Amino acid sequence: MTTRFDRALVWFRRDLRAEDHAALYAACRAARQVFCLFVFDTDILTPLPRQDRRVEFIRDSLVDLDHQLQALGLSHGVDGVRLLVRHGRARQVVAELARTLGVQAVYANHDDEPDALARDAAVRGELANKDVSFYTGKDHVIFERDEVMTAGGTPFSVFTPYKNAWLKKLTPFYLKAYPVARHAGALAPWPEAALGPATGVPELQDIDFQRTDLHRLRLPSGSAGAQELLADFLDRIDDYDRARDFPAVKGPSYLSTHLRFGTVSIRRLAREAWQRMEAGSRGAEVWLSELVWRDFYHQILHHHPHVVGHAFRPEYEAIHWAHGKTADAHFEAWCQGRTGYPLVDAAMRQLAQTGYMHNRLRMVTASFLVKDLGIDWRRGEAWFALHLNDFDLAANNGGWQWAASTGCDAQPWFRIFNPVTQSEKFDPEGKFIRRYVPELAKLPASAIHAPWQARPLELAEAGLRLEADYPLPIVDHAVARQHTLARYAVVKDRSKSAP
Ligand code: FAD
Repeated sequence: MTTRFDRALVWFRRDLRAEDHAALYAACRAARQVFCLFVFDTDILTPLPRQDRRVEFIRDSLVDLDHQLQALGLSHGVDGVRLLVRHGRARQVVAELARTLGVQAVYANHDDEPDALARDAAVRGELANKDVSFYTGKDHVIFERDEVMTAGGTPFSVFTPYKNAWLKKLTPFYLKAYPVARHAGALAPWPEAALGPATGVPELQDIDFQRTDLHRLRLPSGSAGAQELLADFLDRIDDYDRARDFPAVKGPSYLSTHLRFGTVSIRRLAREAWQRMEAGSRGAEVWLSELVWRDFYHQILHHHPHVVGHAFRPEYEAIHWAHGKTADAHFEAWCQGRTGYPLVDAAMRQLAQTGYMHNRLRMVTASFLVKDLGIDWRRGEAWFALHLNDFDLAANNGGWQWAASTGCDAQPWFRIFNPVTQSEKFDPEGKFIRRYVPELAKLPASAIHAPWQARPLELAEAGLRLEADYPLPIVDHAVARQHTLARYAVVKDRSKSAP
């Protein structure tokens, strides 16, 4: 194989691993010497609170990545391979470093979020000015952009036919790992002549952030952390279809943050699921479907970037959401987990305390905000974006538009979750509620889903004073439901009058 370049740079973004990494593989095959870079991009970091679990997760994962790169180099007899880490505006830093290192090409994996595409376009321009090529390719999903389309060549907007086409297209080829290790002899030692002595991965305070409670959560970082969670999940995957809807049960994989930051390869996960599915595991089949939802929402964002800030279906922009003092107070109560609906409150407190929320509860809390409180889905979307460790624009937006009925293949607008029956169904003994709403812990299962209906004796025995210890419901679900049907009727009327 002939190398095309003397030197290349791999720019890591949402792909913080060395194994099965498309861009790293491509660079190592194309260049004699390969450097690796991560940029703490101030355009992304500046608006964030100074304590952010995701920033700490990234920082810790970079330490792991740095070790992986060192080990890969050493396995080829190259000592001193290190990850270069910069703190600044990626738009400038990447091209500056490319010039300092004298590389002829920069490699990166696709990131199809609109801001990332704009950033990449700017970087591409800067690099072109310096005569450096910029190569990007697929890594983050199994099928991206135009790879799965309808027979008519248009993007899918309904999930089931998309999934069927996705599964039809899937062959072992798409699940194969990029054999980075085989070509890692191209990894270059830290370029001391150009940059001075190796600096390693900065501490959080070096980038103006502070430590969080991440280490107390069950979210180990880096590829090693992903591996640990995956091994645990593979022992349970066959039960996924039965266990996944019950928040008190360890049903899902908890791999979403790793998928978001690419500390695990999607090909590895899809391969594990596919092989088990082929061997007859229903749990693996359902889990693979969830990974297909992930691809689905990524291609929706790619084809319909207007979903950022706007309803997928424009007719839903006609809805008048609740505004003003009461709406603001309701929003605040929802954020704080003080709506008076125990399952909603437990879920919102789980989000605040851990940065994670169970999928069933994301649907319940999103539905509650939009269809019980009448509040614009974009406010909830923004709250999740700030607090979810696994925040991913495509999936979060897709989830919110699903719950608000404004999205593609969404929940029909007249289907409104009842927060009490959801609670009775998915947390029947109130185990999850007791964990996150301790003031209700002593209520019997029969009373925990709707404490305002508990008998005075039950309240007294549980030591619970309603209003003082735990709020009464901020809205009556039955009344709220009627308001919502009226609010959404504007859409029904519009669709009727459409030509
Ligand atoms: P598992 O059940 O083990 O699923 C495995 C993986 O499949 C997940 O890690 C995720 O990558 C993917 N996945 C599962 N469900 C979905 C889905 N509905 N849409 C897209 N991908 C899915 N997921 C995010 O990764 N980031 C988000 O910001 C996000 N926001 C959401 C907001 C709302 C309102 C809703 C309803 C869902 C949202 N989801 C989001 C999807 C889903 O809730 C999470 O992916 C899941 O709860 C993560 O936990 P897990 O890794 O244990 O999931």
